[in-house]
Amino acid sequence: MVEKVHTLVIGGGQAGVATSAHLQKHGVPHLVLERDRIAERWRSWRWDSLVANGPAWHDRFPEAEFSDLDPDAFAPKEAVADYFVRFAKDRSLPIRTGVEVTKLEHQGDAYRAITSKGAIEAQNVVVATGPFQKPVIPTVITDPSITQLHSNSYRNPAALPEGAVLVVGAGSSGAQIAEELVRAGRKVFLSVGPHDRPPRRYRGQDFVWWLGRLGKWDMKAPTPGTEHITIAVSGAYGGHTMDFRRLAGLGVTLVGRAGAYRDGTLQIASDLQTNIANGDRNYLSVLDEADAYAKAHGLDLPEEPDARNLLPLPGCVTDPTRALDMQAEGIGTVIWATGFQLDFGWIDLDIFREDGRPRHQDGVTDLPGLYFMGLPWLSCRGSAFIWGAWKDAERLAGLIAARG
Ligand SMILES: Cc1cc2nc3c(=O)[nH]c(=O)nc-3n(C[C@H](O)[C@H](O)[C@H](O)COP(=O)(O)OP(=O)(O)OC[C@H]3O[C@@H](n4cnc5c(N)ncnc54)[C@H](O)[C@@H]3O)c2cc1C
Repeated sequence: MVEKVHTLVIGGGQAGVATSAHLQKHGVPHLVLERDRIAERWRSWRWDSLVANGPAWHDRFPEAEFSDLDPDAFAPKEAVADYFVRFAKDRSLPIRTGVEVTKLEHQGDAYRAITSKGAIEAQNVVVATGPFQKPVIPTVITDPSITQLHSNSYRNPAALPEGAVLVVGAGSSGAQIAEELVRAGRKVFLSVGPHDRPPRRYRGQDFVWWLGRLGKWDMKAPTPGTEHITIAVSGAYGGHTMDFRRLAGLGVTLVGRAGAYRDGTLQIASDLQTNIANGDRNYLSVLDEADAYAKAHGLDLPEEPDARNLLPLPGCVTDPTRALDMQAEGIGTVIWATGFQLDFGWIDLDIFREDGRPRHQDGVTDLPGLYFMGLPWLSCRGSAFIWGAWKDAERLAGLIAARG
């Protein structure tokens, strides 16, 4: 017997949960399939000490607050996962866990999902399997004596082999992991590529508030040329601006982008000063835009001229290393905080571009009844974030309900 549902949602992270909540509001019969547990990636794909990058008043669904958490605090990752589990339970959302979809294909005018527990047919399918699906590890270093792991497998400093650590990638994950390691007494090298680093707070408001006011969460697409620029923010230790000068002050050696590996030496690009300067420029531009906005809208917020005082550049930036002799530096571990790829190999539908990303407009594909949720920039910059998924889910659930 093939099970039939009106609408099938694949993936039970925040995007799947949000989609289910809005389908329920519209009275659309549906089923969510999750291969592990609800919000599994918040539990087992992230390091032990991770807290949300945004404060609890912001990084949540509009309908439910975090219980037992100051709205200005940053929710620990387990609390984030618990939040989604509780949210689903309170609403009796139809989420079936421990079921993996291994294939999605056409079935006449509808779709058939082959799952680890049998086949399911549906008129509508929402794919909500995450913005960050497959860790990217550049195969630069071939030395088997060096332990290499992706940031999604990093847990805590004690779980790493003894010795110095090279963290590659200075987005939020790489920068936060480097800081945790150096605070734990490790010798740390951090390979810094192009990045944005907005101020954590400015004139009494968190940067997520400012990004909202400045219309940056609602941006429809990245500014051309900035697609590969990562963002370095942190809610750790109560939340602070990710300032690479401060990290160097804690003892982290900053280096440029990692290049080729030969005879035990990692070549380092000559881009460190440029990357730091562009990061500073981004930081200062947010202050400028915030000041202009405050002035234009007559906001009564305390001025903060000290925010413009940058620390002096550390020696590792003014006289940067161009080659890392791994043995001489005692580097036994490399953590690749180098991001993720999409992996839709299990979807057997003609819907993908050459780069593996689905063709869609704000989550709506040109195959009737097929939708995507939670992808980076699905409809706007906020789409892969908690509250952004909520807004996309609201819109897509409305379209599915209207389809009948
Ligand atoms: C380190 C890190 C920190 C982040 N911090 C924040 C933050 O503070 N605030 C914020 O708003 N965003 C944050 N994000 C971004 C985003 O909120 C998370 O990536 C979030 O997990 C995305 O939710 P999702 O539901 O779209 O995808 P996921 O959480 O990836 O959920 C997808 C689910 O689909 C399941 N699945 C996948 N394939 C199948 C299949 N074939 N069959 C069945 N189930 C399947 C997976 O098991 C998973 O549970 C962070 C991301 C990272 C990587």
